[in-house]
Amino acid sequence: MATGILARRLRALVGDDGVVDADDVLLVYECDGYTLERAAPELVVLPRTPAETAAVVRLLAEERVAFVPRGAGTGLSGGTLPLAAPVMVCTSRLREIESIDLRNRRLVAQAGVVNSWVTRAVQGDRLLYAPDPSSQTACTIGGNVAENSGGPHTLKYGVTVNHVLGVELVLPSGEVVRLGGAVEDRPGPDLVGFVVGSEGTLGITTRATLRLVRAPEAVRTLLAIFDSVDAASEAVSDVIASGIVPAALEMMDRLVLQAVEQAFSAGFPADAGAVLLVELDGPAAGLEEQAEAVSAVCRRNGSREIRVARDEAERALLWKARKRAFGAVGRLAPNYCTQDGVVPRSRLPEIVRAIAATAERHRLRIGNLLHAGDGNIHPVILFDERDADEVRRVIEAGHEILAACVALGGSLSGEHGIGVEKIGQMPLLFSPDDLLAMTRLKAVFDPEGRANPHKVVPDAKVCVEARAPRRQAAM
Ligand SMILES: Cc1cc2nc3c(=O)[nH]c(=O)nc-3n(C[C@H](O)[C@H](O)[C@H](O)COP(=O)(O)OP(=O)(O)OC[C@H]3O[C@@H](n4cnc5c(N)ncnc54)[C@H](O)[C@@H]3O)c2cc1C
Repeated sequence: MATGILARRLRALVGDDGVVDADDVLLVYECDGYTLERAAPELVVLPRTPAETAAVVRLLAEERVAFVPRGAGTGLSGGTLPLAAPVMVCTSRLREIESIDLRNRRLVAQAGVVNSWVTRAVQGDRLLYAPDPSSQTACTIGGNVAENSGGPHTLKYGVTVNHVLGVELVLPSGEVVRLGGAVEDRPGPDLVGFVVGSEGTLGITTRATLRLVRAPEAVRTLLAIFDSVDAASEAVSDVIASGIVPAALEMMDRLVLQAVEQAFSAGFPADAGAVLLVELDGPAAGLEEQAEAVSAVCRRNGSREIRVARDEAERALLWKARKRAFGAVGRLAPNYCTQDGVVPRSRLPEIVRAIAATAERHRLRIGNLLHAGDGNIHPVILFDERDADEVRRVIEAGHEILAACVALGGSLSGEHGIGVEKIGQMPLLFSPDDLLAMTRLKAVFDPEGRANPHKVVPDAKVCVEARAPRRQAAM
């Protein structure tokens, strides 16, 4: 069907303001937070309700049109890049928190609800939604479900999959299925667990039933300052080995600290090699002892200074600096690319050394932000997209770092997903048989392969051929 006719039929479903087809506006949708590859869709549809979303997908099914789902577009692995998918279905207008069940600690949110709105809705009742990606003031629940997002506090509380009890999914056929629900431990295969982290390749999530947790009675936030990343990494392993599980255990290296300090004046020493931001929470009784034990471990590993946030304002400043660190790094270069890999915690010193060696080999500046307690690394590679050779080196460096993660017993993604960015590296982790099994599982939900095609699982020759004509590298 011609794009113009499809746009007209979609407008009949979602209203005039629910379809974007002007070339200049479509450019807004040409990439997400992964900017190294760009391609604008032919149409963007913005339904307002779950029912409208299902109607849109039914129309696309009738016309056999492939689609790519999108939430807020903060993804960092290119999951929203339209590859052989002319239509983007954006769920950001599905903004309603539909119900809150305080007694059972459940909340039903539509897909476009922004992550931080969930906690805001229940914090007066001393509850919170634990998964807290640093992008939480922008990213949506639909995107979080698709990426199985983590965040600083998921070390203790678990990532999105541990907090999503049910999802409503519009299958690519347009059929609406409800998986899971308000109760735990349903019999049969864990279909909710399969949908969480599937990166929009099984259909479109329209609603999710979320678990809420009790806000901790007390919190202690410490900043431990180290001369080197190595020493800070050793301290991370030792803190966990001591039997204490902090709510958060984050690391920033010197390059990131300098950017953050320029942006927020949070009091980070410019000459520090690395800092650990450690948050302990739980019952007030015993928290002070835990803070002292963590401080002792840090000192044993060479921490030269440990600061304790004296009040909520100091704590908030430390977290603001950490959660907005990616933005602050944007001051250092015209562009940056955030990598995401994971290694067993005890291998952190090795991966950090490997990253430094990669930076030197490729003549690149790379800063490090780590959800260190999880072994989740985020090297931030600085570059200028106008320099084609530098862009090539950035891509190679990213591949090298991920290969090093795998070689150290880790994985290709700690939380940002595979998207298009890492699809070529899936064979490092999975055999052809594994990948075939994944393809067959997707086909149960999406037999025609119309939901976010050519993402996550490489489909070899077809994938390469389909991508080639639509891709425009950002150089
Ligand atoms: C500054 C910054 C900090 C970040 N910090 C973190 C962090 O701490 N932890 C973390 O895990 N991530 C982090 N991210 C990455 C990103 O915010 C998360 O992956 C987030 O979950 C993406 O949500 P979104 O709504 O922006 O989704 P999008 O970027 O729009 O989409 C991401 C993927 O989800 C799919 N999708 C979106 N909505 C739906 C839906 N309704 N149904 C089906 N599929 C859908 C898309 O097709 C795509 O594959 C960060 C990003 C930035 C820019």
